[in-house]
Amino acid sequence: SPIVAAFIAHTPGSAAAYAEACEHFPGGVTHDTRYVRPHPLAIARAAGPRKWDVDGNEYVDYAGGHGALILGHAHPAVTAAVAEQLAKGTHYGANHALENRWAALIKSMVPSAEMIRFTNSGTEATLMALRVARAATGRKKLLRLRGHFHGWHDHVAFGVTNHFDGTPTPGILEGLSDNVLLADPNDEAGLSALMAAHGSEIAAAILEPTGSTYGQVPLRESFVHLLRAETAKHGAVLVFDEVVTGFRVSKGGAQEVLGIRPDLTTLAKILAGGLPGGAVVGRRDLLELLDLERAAARGVEKIPHQGTYNANPLSAAAGIATLEILRDTDAIARAHATAATLRGAMNAVLDEMSVPWAVYGSHTGVHIFTNWKRLPITPASFDPLAMGYADLKVPRGLQTVTRLLLAMRTHGVDFSPWPGGPVSAVHGPAEVDATITAFRAALRDLRA
Ligand code: PLP
Repeated sequence: SPIVAAFIAHTPGSAAAYAEACEHFPGGVTHDTRYVRPHPLAIARAAGPRKWDVDGNEYVDYAGGHGALILGHAHPAVTAAVAEQLAKGTHYGANHALENRWAALIKSMVPSAEMIRFTNSGTEATLMALRVARAATGRKKLLRLRGHFHGWHDHVAFGVTNHFDGTPTPGILEGLSDNVLLADPNDEAGLSALMAAHGSEIAAAILEPTGSTYGQVPLRESFVHLLRAETAKHGAVLVFDEVVTGFRVSKGGAQEVLGIRPDLTTLAKILAGGLPGGAVVGRRDLLELLDLERAAARGVEKIPHQGTYNANPLSAAAGIATLEILRDTDAIARAHATAATLRGAMNAVLDEMSVPWAVYGSHTGVHIFTNWKRLPITPASFDPLAMGYADLKVPRGLQTVTRLLLAMRTHGVDFSPWPGGPVSAVHGPAEVDATITAFRAALRDLRA
């Protein structure tokens, strides 16, 4: 295809780097979603909303550090805070002042955060949240929403990374899947029936509160409220996985906007300002199960938790610098506004070129619905809330999406592969213009 040929001619350095990477890494990548055929980009440096590959090509970036970089790449306040801390040491193997400041900031921003336990990633945070819920309730079962992603550990990977449909994942004990119930997002009758049948066995219900993949498959607010009511009624722990939505949807995350108080919340990505980090926050009585004396006072064994890099000083420094900016400025609102402008401008291009797709999303999300099922939609009639996972979630490697991603890259824009991406607070009019120019050119290439 001319699109693939143009991309290969444009990125010889990335191709060479990928050939070497294949010698080292299974599939030549270190994260499952990075691989887009014929090869991923090899990036040499990044600043603000832009990045440059090893061939010197410039891109408007919509990978956004997999969602960690709402302030863009190498934000001066963040790099200064990290550099300052670097000189003072990277690891004390002890309590330190920055972890206290970081925790106090989180508590001041996230409504349900009574106590905090830091982890190294979102995966570790959801693992701990589910462990706490099982310990607190003495129950085994987890309720998950089909297609929702909570990291790659064994309790949540099954039915997500492979097929998003409940199929057991190789290497994961099938017995674990016996203890996971999958509900369909937005199916309120189905949820109520499932809770009526199994509510008393469920330790925790976990969800991405604005829907999977940055809201690519959006959730109705009424569905989330119903889940809150049903979990409360049956004594199950409600876990908001705000790894994506935390500090993005608002300063206090999706829970603040929805007006829902989850029992536990998992945070990562923006939390640590682009360095590794995560946290479980929430109800004091639940998190106190990690406290030796409090657990003993209740006559239970404490939940074990170690982690060499938990709340490490560099992540704390980056996290504090980032969260303070988000707390004290209109950065989140600016990111939302730019995303809305971009969605509108991309839809105008689709209209002008009579392409039967749609661009949609909320908060910082830009989702390109490529209409792979050729559904009869018009931009005016397109309503993702009325559609389902099966329509909105594009199968991996679908030809049209791959060609769109490659053509966009050749024209200087790197979208995330779903396809779309999060907009940051430092994307501005110049990035919107460059994205629109590239989008028009890529659609022309796709037609040729
Ligand atoms: N939860 C959600 C909603 C995520 O999007 C992710 C990562 O993309 C995770 C959990 C896992 O976080 P991490 O990649 O830091 O382990």
